[in-house]
Amino acid sequence: MVEGSDDNTQTFLFQAEIAQLMSLIINTFYSNKEIFLRELISNSSDALDKIRYESLTDPSKLDSGKELYIKLIPNKAAGTLTIIDTGIGMTKSDLVNNLGTIAKSGTKAFMEALQAGADISMIGQFGVGFYSAYLVADKVTVTSRNNDDEQYVWESSAGGTFTIRQDNSEPLGRGTKIVLHIKEDQTEYLEEAKIKTIVNKHSQFIGYPIKLVCEKERDQEVSDDEADEEEKDKEAEKKEEDEPKLEDVGEDEDADKEDKKKKKTVKVKYTEDEELNKTKPIWTRNADDISQEEYGEFYKSLTNDWEDHLAVKHFSVEGQLEFRALLFVPRRMPFDLFENNKKRNNIKLYVRRVFIMDNCEDLIPDYLNFMKGVVDSEDLPLNISREMLQQNKVLKVIRKNLVKKCMELFEELSEDKETYKKFYDQFAKNIKLGIHEDSRNRAKLADFVRYQTSASGDEACSLADYVGRMKENQTQIYFITGESKEAVANSAFVERVQKRGFEVVYMVDPIDEYVIQHLKEYQGKQLVSVTKEGLTLPEDEAEKKKHEEDKEKFEELCKLIKSILENKVEKVVVSNRLVDSPCCIVTSQYGWSANMERLMKAQALRDSTTAGYMAGKKHLEINPDHPIIDNLREKASADKNDKALKDLVILMYETALLSSGFSLPNPQVHASRIFRMVKLGLGIDYEEPMQAEETSGDTPAPIQVDDSEDASHMEEVD
Ligand code: ADP
Repeated sequence: MVEGSDDNTQTFLFQAEIAQLMSLIINTFYSNKEIFLRELISNSSDALDKIRYESLTDPSKLDSGKELYIKLIPNKAAGTLTIIDTGIGMTKSDLVNNLGTIAKSGTKAFMEALQAGADISMIGQFGVGFYSAYLVADKVTVTSRNNDDEQYVWESSAGGTFTIRQDNSEPLGRGTKIVLHIKEDQTEYLEEAKIKTIVNKHSQFIGYPIKLVCEKERDQEVSDDEADEEEKDKEAEKKEEDEPKLEDVGEDEDADKEDKKKKKTVKVKYTEDEELNKTKPIWTRNADDISQEEYGEFYKSLTNDWEDHLAVKHFSVEGQLEFRALLFVPRRMPFDLFENNKKRNNIKLYVRRVFIMDNCEDLIPDYLNFMKGVVDSEDLPLNISREMLQQNKVLKVIRKNLVKKCMELFEELSEDKETYKKFYDQFAKNIKLGIHEDSRNRAKLADFVRYQTSASGDEACSLADYVGRMKENQTQIYFITGESKEAVANSAFVERVQKRGFEVVYMVDPIDEYVIQHLKEYQGKQLVSVTKEGLTLPEDEAEKKKHEEDKEKFEELCKLIKSILENKVEKVVVSNRLVDSPCCIVTSQYGWSANMERLMKAQALRDSTTAGYMAGKKHLEINPDHPIIDNLREKASADKNDKALKDLVILMYETALLSSGFSLPNPQVHASRIFRMVKLGLGIDYEEPMQAEETSGDTPAPIQVDDSEDASHMEEVD
């Protein structure tokens, strides 16, 4: 990375995408530049959080500076805006890595988002907020000191490179000082009033004092002599400096003539720190006194989101244990919600108003990782460590309560169809993961899922809606899993169920396979897959009788088909679920469905040995009312060894595999079988199948395991 270096200054190349991002930031015409300050203040606040957290277990970490604050210093003369924090600071390698050389997924994602019409103000969400400094500055100098290293200076005027040098000329103690050399046309950001407005708008909820160094003037009485002295000094200064420190305001007319030393009043300029964010933490206030706008502002400052939240819950718990909390549902899923190992700021933990940590995994289960908010506990010890938290009983109770409140919040959301749709479009996966993971709240979470069904049209409906529409004699909830609505709606499995007037739930999200592993019933009604064995539709007496007769009539054919297919299928039975299709493949209760088999095959890195025993055992069901089946029956009873019979049966089986959602183990063999049939249809001479085809095209024999063992393996699937 080092491009060139002298004794003390090393030059580095920015990682390519970061360089691209910087030039984009510099060159894009964009008017809402003020957000740079929000981003830098937010970084400072994070850095302060980090040192505060470290100091809870090791107070000596604050020996390098006890006061935790952010300071803003505009300097018009120099054309700079300086942002200082007494946070954790950066070591040399932090500066090199964090500010330029390590690629982040957010860099590319942000540029893509911009191309798709996103706004630059969204930068913070993508984890590259620092570079927004280049919206207003043409050069940025970052001086930083971490407890574990010397003080270093990072500097860049963009253009693809930055430099690092060691420099202790103005020791910081600990923390970071960012000097923005403001572009000539952006000097408004050096105005106190402007800075105040921006901080008030974007950063009022930052938990550390933000101090603005303001220039003030006051009158000061000085004796004539002193004033004269000053006057002389001033004359001398005037040659170098445009803005004198003292100004003569003329003689004081009422001065006592007796007083030999005449007094004069002069205006003295001085600087004073003004704290810009004095608001009390919002969660400690009474919910009735807080407007939606205030919640929105707080939410945005908490999350770096550019939009308001979708819903909020503000509550306190009292009694044996006391805490206050604010929970927000965002409007969107973050771009990397399901990226593995990503630590994010979800729920911030405070203890008696002191910030403890911002990614406390133990506060909220994984499936609720999209929820944002704060929890402020009265009971936890201040110096609690991450390790202690895992064991902590108080935390477990808080967690339980937070989950309960999330459920209430979702319930409230579901009362408004429009809003709920927005929520569900973004977070359906999380709800479904919840059903998979959270047995305690499974029943509640099942209320929140929405599916299209054979009766719902384009709208999605709840399982409660389904139950409300159930036929009088219906005792089960029928569903099918598959790749898309089109695929399942037209499948043979849905035919009969629908024809008989029952509704089928279409589950076409891959995660639904995991949902139904755990969601066995809803409101006391069993959920039944229409693609698995053992589907029994309510039958009246006549139907029952017919089914028994069909079984008898086709018994021989079933046996024959089974002997042709050998161990490709477990069983061949007469179906009562088919209408227009001659046959279908169903799977055993506990094995993978066709859809699950498809999903598992798509996971390239999976251990392929599981496929052997997890692939559901296949049953072929034949349709007694279908002319093909009846014709086969006649052919078979006339001549069991009919030459075409074997080919036809295998062809029918393979086609059923396809239409039931499985893939073919050997498509070439299937194709050549079809071509032979085409020849036959065209009256071209029928040939005996070639020997090689017969041996190569078979699926391996399923390994026999009993169902209970299958079920235990299901737990390991994810
Ligand atoms: P993000 O803050 O979202 O990670 P940024 O591009 O804003 O992305 O910052 C990159 C990294 O640089 C931060 O994660 C942090 O490690 C470091 N950093 C930035 N500003 C500061 C600061 N004021 N003090 C300490 N570290 C900082």
